[in-house]
Amino acid sequence: MKSKKLAFIGTGNMAFAIIQGLLKSNYPASQIIACNKSNLARREALQAVGIATNFANREAVEQAEVIVLAVKPQMMAEVCAEFADLDFSDKWVISVAAGISVTRLETLLPNAKNIIRTMPNTPSLIGEGMTGLFAKKSVNSTACQFAEELMSAVGKCYWVDTEDKINHIIAITGSSPAYFFRFMEAMQQSAIQMGFSEQDARLLVQSAALGAAKLVASNPATPISTLRENVTSKGGTTAKALDVFEQQNLAKTVENAMWAAIHRAEEME
Ligand code: NAD
Repeated sequence: MKSKKLAFIGTGNMAFAIIQGLLKSNYPASQIIACNKSNLARREALQAVGIATNFANREAVEQAEVIVLAVKPQMMAEVCAEFADLDFSDKWVISVAAGISVTRLETLLPNAKNIIRTMPNTPSLIGEGMTGLFAKKSVNSTACQFAEELMSAVGKCYWVDTEDKINHIIAITGSSPAYFFRFMEAMQQSAIQMGFSEQDARLLVQSAALGAAKLVASNPATPISTLRENVTSKGGTTAKALDVFEQQNLAKTVENAMWAAIHRAEEME
């Protein structure tokens, strides 16, 4: 990845994860400026690895070639107002903020022509993320490539060609870690009712979930339905359990849940 002078506006959990990923892939710390309002310990940790943390947002944006907007969505308007009048002709803007459209970012930063919206998910915090990316066709392709390389520091990337699909990505990868957690929680609860300790129930459930996810990932040519069938003998225990899911129309429930997430994302834009 060709390094560029990067300014993180907001260095909370997400930005810190990206920075850690960048450093792991040998991105020079001297090319990174991290702005953060609170969290002294975070600033000290960044300084210890050679990242500049003593710039005001405006100064950082002035110095940077790429600006990563990583404050909470509700802070975005106030923060962007600090540097909206600067010349952005040679700068690229990458937002990781949930629910803020490119059109809205263009309103907040009217001088910025190259804006890329990204939608990472929580597993990004441990380098196992999946990030959806969107940019208008007019955005410089090198900027898009840079954004992809940046987000690859915390996992995998997936481009969407229209912005409404970012809301689909929210339902598929953004919110979905919670769907799996909910499922695992329910399984853990049942195991506890069977008499297992909370800790043992967790270990058993998380091992099964991780193993299943790894089986899917390590058999890319095998449909997930085949993997399911492979563990389902006719009339056996798994078949009996899956029958219950079918009776309760699990697929429809999941579909409804995902569309509820999409509709909420649309309302929030
Ligand atoms: P966070 O609260 O950990 O980080 C936000 C940081 O912004 C804080 O450290 C705060 O000190 C800093 N900040 C606040 N006001 C500031 C200002 N005026 N100038 C400079 N810094 C300021 O939040 P986070 O979880 O890292 O989320 C950051 C962005 O990433 C959000 O927009 C969120 O929607 C997006 N995001 C996060 C996740 C996730 O898993 N954490 C997933 C998807 C998207």
